[in-house]
Amino acid sequence: MRLIFLGPPGVGKGTQANRVKDHFNILHLSTGDILRDEISGGTDLGKEAQIFMDRGELVPDHLLLKMMEQRLLQDDCSRGYLLDGFPRTIPQADGLKEILERIDSKLDAVISLTANQEELVRRLVLRGKQSGRSDDTPEVIRQRQKVYWSQTAPLLEYYRKENLLIDIDGMGEIDEITKRIIKALG
Ligand code: AMP
Repeated sequence: MRLIFLGPPGVGKGTQANRVKDHFNILHLSTGDILRDEISGGTDLGKEAQIFMDRGELVPDHLLLKMMEQRLLQDDCSRGYLLDGFPRTIPQADGLKEILERIDSKLDAVISLTANQEELVRRLVLRGKQSGRSDDTPEVIRQRQKVYWSQTAPLLEYYRKENLLIDIDGMGEIDEITKRIIKALG
């Protein structure tokens, strides 16, 4: 099973991705987590990425594509994976398509989690208080929402045209939403 999870910041992508990866016994690849590891490791990539992340902006496509190409070619990906937070732009989606074609692989589905805007901001402010994530302040949250709608939301149409998109209502109980996703994936 090879999946992409799409959805605006705060929709519960990470939470649901964790549960769904356990259900299907696949890898959970979160580019946000990978980048945060690079930052704590003090790597060159981490140093470059942090500047963008702290502003709530996207890290440049070429850095993400290089990082994900290396990751997707590793052996453990053969058992399937769930991409959480990647791709986030059309060039990244095109790049991913190329990488997959090269290794004769393809995606099974793209899950789009939806929720209303007010609920999203409420959840993110709460998460910022609990997690201490430096990009969960109201100002950066607003910027990340803006970036999602301008740069990532066009991917919904992109994957709908490829007949891969499945819309899932991300409002309600966590358990209930997981069940919706698993049922939709059959
Ligand atoms: P996330 O944990 O998915 O919310 O990602 C946190 C931050 O990491 C984002 O606001 C971006 O700055 C950066 N990031 C994560 N994934 C990507 C990506 N696919 N493209 C560009 N930037 C990314």
